[in-house]
Order: sequence, then structure tokens, then C-alpha cells
Amino acid sequence: MNKLITSRRPTRLHRSIALGLALGIGLLVAAIYPYASRALPACVPFVPIFCTAVVVTEAITSLLMWVRFRMGKSPIDAALCAAYAFSSLTCAVQLLIFPGVFSPTGLLGAGKQSAVWIWVVWHGGFPTLVLAGFVAQWLAESRFLFRLRHARLLVLLALCGSVAGCVVAVRFSDALPMLIKDGSYSLLRHSPFAFYVVAACVTALVAQLVSGRLRSVLDLWLTIALLAFLADVTLTLAGSARFTLGWYGARVASVIASSALLAALLVEISMLYSRLARINEDLEEKANHDALTGLYNRGWFDMAYARECLVAQHQERRLSVLMVDVDHFKLFNDAYGHAAGDECLRRVANALQGCLRRQGDAVSRYGGEEFVVLLPGCAAASAVSIAEAMRSAVRKLDIPAKSPAGRVTISLGVFTSEAGKPQASDPLQGADENLYRAKAQGRDRVVAGTRKTAAPVLHASAV
Ligand code: GH3
Ligand code: MG
Ligand code: MG
Repeated sequence: MNKLITSRRPTRLHRSIALGLALGIGLLVAAIYPYASRALPACVPFVPIFCTAVVVTEAITSLLMWVRFRMGKSPIDAALCAAYAFSSLTCAVQLLIFPGVFSPTGLLGAGKQSAVWIWVVWHGGFPTLVLAGFVAQWLAESRFLFRLRHARLLVLLALCGSVAGCVVAVRFSDALPMLIKDGSYSLLRHSPFAFYVVAACVTALVAQLVSGRLRSVLDLWLTIALLAFLADVTLTLAGSARFTLGWYGARVASVIASSALLAALLVEISMLYSRLARINEDLEEKANHDALTGLYNRGWFDMAYARECLVAQHQERRLSVLMVDVDHFKLFNDAYGHAAGDECLRRVANALQGCLRRQGDAVSRYGGEEFVVLLPGCAAASAVSIAEAMRSAVRKLDIPAKSPAGRVTISLGVFTSEAGKPQASDPLQGADENLYRAKAQGRDRVVAGTRKTAAPVLHASAV
């Protein structure tokens, strides 16, 4: 399965949303085009709002496309990173020099033609860079390996292109062909520059449809972005002047163009996050559990034991520990084989688990056929009664064994620390010593008590 969600085939939902948006863009153009040159009230604050939205969304898109390129090494991703970086930077300059936003004539010493020439640089440069991506992709597939340095060069060229284009548009606009006159840029409409812009947009859209054929989620949303970009160009040219219906409509299309890809990438990121969280949970589960019995493993127990000792100390509580060992298990394996031994361990583990009473109580597999039970805040008498319940639960399983008891039995060592002093008495060590005593005294029994006074609490043969 492809690790990038945007490289997968689009789902029916993706296709439906994209189709709806494409139809919406088509309708927007069809509805506005006949009245595009109709003048509307000049809302100057609209310009900084629109430009800021475009600058920010395109800068983020560029960054995410770079991350995507580093993951997939696809030239088209690098080209899209370059194209969106170019577009974001050029739009930021457009904002600075736009007449009436920061100063009546625009900052940086802009001339009357600067804004419209920056528009040409912006709307001609973006599809050109996308086309460069298709060429790089084609070359990479047939002739050379597209490397990181090529991607860096492409982004650098895009940024330099933006700066150079803006410098020419701002500093030398008077020397450039006249595109705007008396507030109308109908001269632009009939100029070769507009022809280039439209031709580049249409070519990029067709190239995208031909090469991508809407095969992936990214292809789908890049197509929508390019379609919206073409709508932006069409309505801007049809409007022929600022603050006309066409001009406002073009800005709406431009916002769609700048955010379509970002939306797809953000959906991808949020899905990757939730997948990561699920994988983390699985890993944690696997890291803390024993594969054979499903109980907590030794690693988990070591952490839990250290934690419970601290809690017992701070809260002045007792801590009881039970060490459990299956009796004569080597004989069982020798008689019935390891597979039967494994099954026996699973059943014993289940039986031990079934005897726990409280939320914080836990059984872990300590190693081999040994188990350890943590009973926080549990007094000595209760710990012994749980140990007895475990011993009789395993007996009740009635698993035949070649041992003196004739069935599988367990021995248990129980130790309870004094309240608030788990470190001083080390209940794990105490339980282990009591387990040895239980073994020495004949197995199938529970031995509890302090180190000096440890004595059998109940003898199996007495049951
Ligand atoms: P005792 O009553 O003194 O505890 O005798 P024992 O035979 O149970 O003790 P010993 O330590 O000699 O043998 C333990 C056996 O447990 C040996 C080993 O093959 C078996 N064992 C340990 N882990 C597993 C396991 O995961 N699966 C199986 N089938 N056997 C295991
Ligand atoms: Mg044993
Ligand atoms: Mg053992």
C-alpha cells in the first residue's frame, strides 16, 4: 500500500467533491463572464484580505509539497513546491505595491503599471513552473535521475524568477509595454502577454489531465487547482479593470486555486496522524505484552513494580507480591511436548488472571513457567486468599501431568510490605524466597510471611 494517501486512487467521495467543485468553477465563470466588466464598489480592504489568504495558503502548500518530495522524490512534487513558493512570494509583493493598500501609489516606488505587470509575472510563472515539473517528470522517467540538488535548484530558480520579475515590474514598469490605461487593462487582454498566460494555463491543465489522468488524489486536486487558476485568469482578463464583477470573481477562483491542494494535503496529514496513533497503540500493546499468554511481560512488570513501590511509599500503603511457579513443568514438557506445554501455560495464565479482584491488580509472565502478581494496597490476609484462589483455580483446570499430584499444580510465594516501606522490605525478593520455601516444602502450596517467620499457610495435601 502506498504510504502517501494523496498518491492513492481517489475514492468515490473524492471524485464527487472534485466534480462538484469543477462544476462550481464552471458555473462561476459562465455566470460572471457576460457581465465581467460591470463596475462594483471599490472595496480596498478586500485586496489585503485576499492577498494574505493566498500568500499564507500557498506558502504552506509549498512547504508540504517539499516534505512530500523528500518522501517520494517525484519531480512533479518539487515543481509544485517551486510553483507555490513562486506564487506566494509574487502575491506578497503584489500586496505591497498595490495602489491604495499601504500607500496611495503602492510601496517600493511602484509605478502605475507595476501591479498589472506583477499579475503577468505571477500568472505566467505559476503554470510555467507546473509545466517544468511535467518536463522534469518525463525526463526523470526516460533519461536522468531527478535528485535533491535538482529540486533545490528548481525552487531557487522559482524564487529568483519571482524576485527578478517583481524588480522589473516595479522598477522598470514605465519602460515596459503599456498594459493599463485610465484604470482599464483592456490593453493587456489583447497583448501577447495575456496570450502567453492563457496558453500556459491551458497547456498546464491539458498536460495534467493527459499525464495524471486523475489517477491519484493529488492528480485530482491539482486538476481542480489548475482549473480554478484558469478561471481566475479568464475572469481577470474579462473584467478589464479593478473592482469589476470579473475582477472580484477572479479573486474567488484564485482562493480556490491556492487552497485546493492544501486541503488535500491537510486531509492526508490528519489521516497519517490517526494511522500513526493506531500504530503506536499497537506497538505499545506488543511491547508490554507476552506473545504466548497475552499477559503483561517482564518489561512491563519491572516498570510497574518500580512505580508501585513509589506509590506505596508516598501513600503509606502496603504492596503485596505473589511469585507463582508451575510445578514439575519440565516433566510436563518431556511427557506431552512443548506445544502442549505452551497450551498449558496459556490456560494457567487465564486461570490466574481470572482470580484478580481489583482494578490495579495485575498478573505478568515473569519468565518461562513463572508468573508474578502485583497487588497494590493489598493487606497480607487478602494476598494469601488471592494466592489460594489461584492455586485452587489451577487445580480445577485438572490438566493431567506426570507429577506426584497427577495434574498441573502451582506453588506460590506471597510477601506483603509494611505500609509505606516497600523499598526496605523488597516484596519481590520476599515473594521469591517464599516461593523457594513452598517448593522445598513439597510444592502445590502457598507460603507467606516475613523473611524470618515464613511458614506454609496451607498445605495442598491438607485440602
Ligand atoms: P519446579 O517444580 O521445581 O519448578 O520444576 P520445573 O520442572 O517446573 O522447573 P524447571 O526450571 O526445571 O523447568 C522449567 C521448564 O519450563 C523448563 C522449560 O522447558 C519450561 N518452559 C519454560 N518456558 C516455556 C515455554 O514458553 N513453553 C514451554 N512449553 N515450556 C517452557
Ligand atoms: Mg516450575
Ligand atoms: Mg521455574
